[in-house]
Amino acid sequence: MKKLLSLLAVFSLVAFLAGAASAQQADSLRVLLTFGGHGFQEEPFFAMFDALPGVEYTKAPLPEKADLFKPGLEKQFDVIVMYDMVSGFKPEQQQAFVELLNTGIGVVSLHHNMGAHRDWAEFPKIIGGKFIFEPAAFEGKEYQKSTWSHGEDLKVTVVDREHPITRGLDDFEIHDETYGGYFTSSNVHVLLKTDHPKNDPNLAWTTQYGKSRVFYLMLGHDRLAWENPAYSKLLDRGIRWVAGR
Ligand SMILES: [Zn+2]
Repeated sequence: MKKLLSLLAVFSLVAFLAGAASAQQADSLRVLLTFGGHGFQEEPFFAMFDALPGVEYTKAPLPEKADLFKPGLEKQFDVIVMYDMVSGFKPEQQQAFVELLNTGIGVVSLHHNMGAHRDWAEFPKIIGGKFIFEPAAFEGKEYQKSTWSHGEDLKVTVVDREHPITRGLDDFEIHDETYGGYFTSSNVHVLLKTDHPKNDPNLAWTTQYGKSRVFYLMLGHDRLAWENPAYSKLLDRGIRWVAGR
């Protein structure tokens, strides 16, 4: 009898630990993180993701891992964070990516990802903007080539103080790269703005594509931006919001 009782105790302990482990797994967000097509400071970039509490991420270098982006991926990952500037996907990969976004997987797009997929007309509709390499028209307006400038100090204004990503966040300053003359879709909801003369006013926004929530943040060239406390806060909240948490 004593033996049976201790066996029962061991069983319930194992069951308790298994329950705790799966609860922890259910709480942590699974992120697939793309990069490639543009250089960046890898060590501090991944260190920022290492420091995000409750986020587990897997690296997806592009274009090597482009075939991952198809329906079914949403069962393994809650959110795709895109920091790549891949030149393009093959037509069948583009179609699979659109189908994936109809599953509702969350999407966070950062910085130079705005210049990815430069010849794919659907991509600006997905992330709500486009860095322009050749003059083109969007929503009936002509755009010239976009510009950039390194090492600028930007004043950032929170324009939506109620949104879960920016709620309680104070206006802040950041040392970062500016982008000028890019396209912002009329379908986005702007969260952050700047008055920097070399930057377009819209710095961060949310939008929806298919069933997916999308958060785009223009900032984030290097460690001087990533180490700004406001940056990791926006990234963390953006990941949670697109995941529906
Ligand atoms: Zn940059």
